[in-house]
Amino acid sequence: MPYLVEHFYSLQGEGKFIGTPSIFFRFGGCNLSCKSFGEYFIKGKKVYGCDSLRAVNRTLFEDEWKRVEDSVYLIDVLKDYLENLDFRPHVVITGGEPLIYWNDRVFYGFVEYLINEGFTVTIETNATQTIDFERFGAYKSVIFAMAVKLSNSGEPYEKRVVKEAIAAIAENTDYSFFKFTLDRSVIEMRAYEEIVDIVGDYPHIEVFCMPLGDNKETLSKNDKVVAEFCMIYGFIYSDRLQVRLWNRQKRR
Ligand code: SF4
Repeated sequence: MPYLVEHFYSLQGEGKFIGTPSIFFRFGGCNLSCKSFGEYFIKGKKVYGCDSLRAVNRTLFEDEWKRVEDSVYLIDVLKDYLENLDFRPHVVITGGEPLIYWNDRVFYGFVEYLINEGFTVTIETNATQTIDFERFGAYKSVIFAMAVKLSNSGEPYEKRVVKEAIAAIAENTDYSFFKFTLDRSVIEMRAYEEIVDIVGDYPHIEVFCMPLGDNKETLSKNDKVVAEFCMIYGFIYSDRLQVRLWNRQKRR
């Protein structure tokens, strides 16, 4: 059964649907740890990880992880948000790595409900989990934001690049996209070659690149070099709107 860490209503801050009003469901748990992405002081300890650390490190954030035993709970949360809105926002399922639950009854039940009800659903994933699209057909109507990790994550290639999982998404969905997080160091080294290795077989799939940074200061250090990188190689620049607007505020 999945763990839900938080849910909130905000604007999508990254990728294809940047700026779109969206209800977010953040699930806990990840098969990677991406220790090179940042350094944080939490509960008196120095820990390394990404800006979604709360959804990755269960030991440190156990009090925020809620075990969900029925998809009805998630549907009710969604309905509470909808009561205050006169339109239908997008739904974003994120993490952590939400697809560690891809064949879980509760998780899939929620995805199936959303698709059957006609919601536009994006699942933000590191694209390392190979989904069985034939048995779990609702995923064919989901948009996957494939945030495949590069070497700047600190994870080994064999863990962070699973080509079978990427191929399953690319071949079974009408629209999904790639989203890479870049900083100056990876650009100077080998970002282009790393990206081509991952996306090269899928010229029809859009590629977004965004700067590393969970605060305005770090973002500003990386944004222009990423913008120039996109202009040189023909990728699409994505900012991190949630950081520009709300900096490090939670649930944004
Ligand atoms: S895959 Fe994503 S959520 Fe998991 S540790 Fe890396 S950046 Fe964080």
